[in-house]
This record gives sequence, C-alpha cells and structure tokens, in this order.
Amino acid sequence: MFPAAFDYRAPASLDEALGLLAQQGDAAKVMAGGQSLIPLLKLRFAQPGMVVDIGRMRGLTGVSRNDGWITIGALTRHVDLERSYDLPGQLSMLPEAAHWIADPLVRNQGTIGGSICHADPSGDWGSVVLALGADLVARSANGERVIHAADFFQGPFTTALGPDEILTEIRVASSSKPAGGAYNKLERKVGDFATVAVAVQVELDGGKVSRAGIGLTSVGATNIKATEAEKSLVGREPNDAVIAEAARLAAAAAEPKTDVRGSAEFKRDVVRVFVQRGLKTALARAKEARV
Ligand SMILES: Cc1cc2nc3c(=O)[nH]c(=O)nc-3n(C[C@H](O)[C@H](O)[C@H](O)COP(=O)(O)OP(=O)(O)OC[C@H]3O[C@@H](n4cnc5c(N)ncnc54)[C@H](O)[C@@H]3O)c2cc1C
Repeated sequence: MFPAAFDYRAPASLDEALGLLAQQGDAAKVMAGGQSLIPLLKLRFAQPGMVVDIGRMRGLTGVSRNDGWITIGALTRHVDLERSYDLPGQLSMLPEAAHWIADPLVRNQGTIGGSICHADPSGDWGSVVLALGADLVARSANGERVIHAADFFQGPFTTALGPDEILTEIRVASSSKPAGGAYNKLERKVGDFATVAVAVQVELDGGKVSRAGIGLTSVGATNIKATEAEKSLVGREPNDAVIAEAARLAAAAAEPKTDVRGSAEFKRDVVRVFVQRGLKTALARAKEARV
C-alpha cells in the first residue's frame, strides 16, 4: 500500500513548522512518530498535500519541573517515559502506562503528544492526561493557548486543536502533597489495543483524598473522565466502601460497546474492577511517594 503523493518538510524549528501550518491550513498534516499517521496515509484515510515532520525537531522532549508545573514535552517518546526512573511520585502512572503501549517498535517511535492528538478512544495516554487533570499547551503562529485535557477530546479522532496548531507540552500542576497513580489494562495479547484500561490518580491530605482523577480507555467514543466517581472520593477517607462506590460510579460512566474484544456488560465490569484495583495501588503509591 502506498500513500498518495505529498510534499514532505522537516522543519528545524517550531517557528518554521508553525509558519508552514499557517500557510497550508487544512492541506498540511503534522507528523511526530508516524506510528498512527503513516498507516492512515497508506490506507489513504488521510491525503494531505504536505506532511510537516516534527519528529526530529529539538526542544520538545523530556520531563522538567518549573514554576509549579511538571512539563512533559509533546515529542517525548513512549519508550523514554517507560524508562523514566526518576519521575516525581505524582507521575508514577507514566512508566506503567507507557509499558502497556503496543510493542517496542512502536514505543521507540511513537510520542505522547502524537497519541493525544490522534485521539483514538483506545489510546492509553488520553486517559492518563484526564486522570492527571493535565493542561495541554498548543502553539500556532498566533501564539500559545492552554486547553484542559477534559476539553480536548471532542469525538473519535477529533480534538480541540486547530489545523494550524501544534501540541507542544503536557503540564501537570506540581503538588507538595503525597500523590500517586496506577494504570491497569486488559488486552487480548501483548501489543494489542485495550479491551478496557483505567487510569487512576489520587492525592492525599491528612489521610483524606484531596484530589482524584479517573480516565477510562476503550469504553466510549473518546477517553472518558469519570467525573462523578472522582467527586465521590474527594474529602473522604478512602476505605473499602468509598472505593467500591467510586468504582460503581466509574462503571456507570463507561459507554462500552459489544465487539470482538468482549460484551458491553463484561467491559463495564472490568472498569469497576480496575478502578478498585487502581485506587488501591495509587493510594499505596501515594503513601510512599517522593514529592
Ligand atoms: C501496531 C500498533 C499498535 C499500537 N498499540 C497502541 C496501544 O496499545 N496503545 C496506544 O495508546 N497506542 C497504540 N498505538 C498508537 C501509537 O501509540 C502511536 O505512537 C500514537 O498513537 C501516535 O503517536 P505518533 O507520535 O506516532 O504520532 P503520529 O502518527 O505522527 O501522528 C498521529 C496524529 O497526531 C497528529 N500529531 C502528532 N503530533 C502532534 C503534535 N505535537 N501536535 C499536533 N498534532 C500532532 C498527527 O497530525 C496525526 O494526526 C499503536 C500503533 C501501532 C502501529
């Protein structure tokens, strides 16, 4: 399978890339790791006039801390997050989620930003950024804007980004409170997309939950933020009954469909079990977290 012909550019700087997007509008497509875009080009589901390859551009990689934020560059590859051994405890979910993505070939090339912008409801990073309550920073030739993760995913493969915008970083508010997360995923075989996966994040203050985040993968038209389940945890001591109630509410928020990976009923119950399991792991990690 061959893609339709396109003009290929590999700009050296973000400004150059943004300039190309401003000129080309809808006709251009950004490429980061190419792990989702290249199959789309080959299948001719996407036929852009120009591919703007930002994959080797410098400066949008790695995890850093400044001004009260932990920042993850959009071009950070899955493998680099999988092998991040010195992340703050608050980001304990990242290496775990990265490890579940595809296989080493894809993890070596694919980027966290590419995955978020691709907005596949079966993508793992979407649920992680929802659970973390992250902000997504977009740049265009006109400047920068910040989009809350909860407002970013608008439908299957559809985001709040304009065609002239590039996602540059993912920001998480740095917290001095103990926090931790967990990512649980059920897949049919190694490397498969999720049958169901759940991202859970908790922050503790004096033994009570001060913040909770829950993101659901592969059980709806987008990654889903289980808002009612999150609210049910805040201000409570996280005992078994509170955890079970949050898990029940998260399962109610899921909108699974029956398909080759399992029945809707089965998937909803996996959400419930994974929220319970994830909360217990996240709470244990928060209690022993480095802040
Ligand atoms: C065999 C296989 C198995 C996979 N399994 C999984 C899995 O289990 N879980 C999972 O989550 N994913 C999986 N994926 C997808 C993989 O994670 C991709 O790496 C990811 O979805 C896209 O990242 P990328 O950097 O390759 O983006 P690209 O393919 O380069 O781009 C994807 C889309 O995002 C846009 N884009 C990319 N970067 C930016 C940016 N910075 N700003 C604006 N727009 C941008 C592109 O225009 C394109 O529309 C799998 C892929 C393959 C091929």
